[in-house]
Amino acid sequence: MVVSKEVKPHIALLPSPGMGHITPLFEFAKRLVTNHGILVSFLVITADASAAQTQLFQSPDIPAGICIVNIPPVDMSNVINENTLVLSRVCLTVQESLKLLRSILVEVKPKVLIVDLFTSQAIEVARELSISVYSFYTASAGLLAFSLYLPTLDREVEGEYVDLLEPIKVPGTRPERIEDLLDQVRNRKIDEYKWFLFHMSRLALVDGILENSWEDLEPLSLKAVREHEYYKTVQAPPVYPIGPLIKPDEFITDKDARIFTWLDNQPPDSVLFVAFGSGGTLTSEQLTELAWGLEMSEQRFILVARNPSDASASAAFFNVGGDQNDPSTYLPEGFAERTQGVGLIVHSWVPQAAILGHSSSGAFLSHCGWNSSLESLSHGVPILAWPLYAEQRMNATLLEEGVGVAVKPVVQPGKKVVGREEIERVVRLIMEGEEGKVMRRRAEQLKESADTALSCGGSSYNSVCQVADIWKSLV
Ligand code: UDP
Repeated sequence: MVVSKEVKPHIALLPSPGMGHITPLFEFAKRLVTNHGILVSFLVITADASAAQTQLFQSPDIPAGICIVNIPPVDMSNVINENTLVLSRVCLTVQESLKLLRSILVEVKPKVLIVDLFTSQAIEVARELSISVYSFYTASAGLLAFSLYLPTLDREVEGEYVDLLEPIKVPGTRPERIEDLLDQVRNRKIDEYKWFLFHMSRLALVDGILENSWEDLEPLSLKAVREHEYYKTVQAPPVYPIGPLIKPDEFITDKDARIFTWLDNQPPDSVLFVAFGSGGTLTSEQLTELAWGLEMSEQRFILVARNPSDASASAAFFNVGGDQNDPSTYLPEGFAERTQGVGLIVHSWVPQAAILGHSSSGAFLSHCGWNSSLESLSHGVPILAWPLYAEQRMNATLLEEGVGVAVKPVVQPGKKVVGREEIERVVRLIMEGEEGKVMRRRAEQLKESADTALSCGGSSYNSVCQVADIWKSLV
């Protein structure tokens, strides 16, 4: 009898810098290895690496089927300066780092390369080496539809999108309000827009798009990109919804243990978790109002405090987990003392997914980064939506109006910041109001639907099987 020895397909993943990209691709890698018998080379751009990134890849728990391949750091001093905006800095770092990609791919020899939003420069190199290329879209399906429409929009609209008088009618999806448009398309003259358009135009070049969302969360946008005539006309690649892929509960270090001891002593659903992702920062004035609003609401909270920045809402993006600061120097005088017992102030990087998964967490005041949004919903936690940068305003609107799991505070006309009374109002509303209960129930439904989608036989699980079968047939 001849026993056939199955050859495991070998896939390489190439995330762009930033924990919001690395985390979901890494989770995907783990699932490919564990559930689908695939070998993974995880290509890591090490230039500009944050402390959180370095820590992740030093973890002893990386499954045996994943090989971490570090792309050596490159000198960026002549390419970026302190005025380079976040997306341009990410894209330039990728561009410089990928000069070494060809030799790495020749050595690693994967059958498939999975790029993400901002590593699409790798497509040509992969094609030359006869490697199939897929894209992992780490943002919402709504933004994916917008991105696939952007090249057309760019051709058809003269002038700035922000000057349009009507919402943008993205084929098959909800019209996109001008005020919600992502930062990268708000000024067509700057590099951020050129980079964004460049990468989104290249989505059409890949063999398939893996979308970190699921059918029940974004039925309209997913149906649109699969069935609407426009996407067929532009020959958009097949879209596989494979989410929500989120960070699993992290290992709790001694430093973080006190957070969980504190949470263990709070009633169920009673704590508001306040955090602005890996890079979000508030202005000094806004941070002061937020602290006062939290105090006035008399609700329990965990505040991940970060140095304010009056210059940028994403000031901490390249210093994730490395920010050591003293909250008493920038929070209102006496705030920590007055809220002692009710609130817990922590700084820098915390195990966010594990906090959201704790039974005492009742709501999440979040910047609505896509990963944070998925983590909140995957744990059944409603959201107080506080978008800051990138596409977060689009996410906030989707969560509030499309999904019914979020509330947004209102900035009073003529004001630049959300005032303390408004913060008190929305915090009370989500923590103890009837609307908050409705949102919590909806979030819990989505948690169940997310679990089902990812389980064997669920919609996202089946999507991965479908694409994994294609990859296995390439061996
Ligand atoms: N995160 C974390 N601890 C923190 C801050 C952020 O673990 O203190 C993680 C969070 O769980 C999420 C990611 O960082 O997985 C942030 O990604 P997201 O897309 O929400 O926003 P971005 O930071 O990219 O703007």
